[in-house]
Amino acid sequence: MKEHAVHKVVHIRPLDDAVGHEESADCLCGPVGENVYARATTQVFGMIYRHHALRPCHSWEASAEM
Ligand SMILES: [Zn+2]
Repeated sequence: MKEHAVHKVVHIRPLDDAVGHEESADCLCGPVGENVYARATTQVFGMIYRHHALRPCHSWEASAEM
């Protein structure tokens, strides 16, 4: 079992970019992960990866990593 298995990981990706984006921290655009903290505690709740569009995109999707 992974140490951070309970954490949710969400990827915010452009859908109409010139290239496809993986739901992975290893995506070619080099997404930067941000810790998300639960409001009531200081515990890390999950991670959000914001992907970098290669061109201006209007369609974005937030999806949870499996
Ligand atoms: Zn990406």
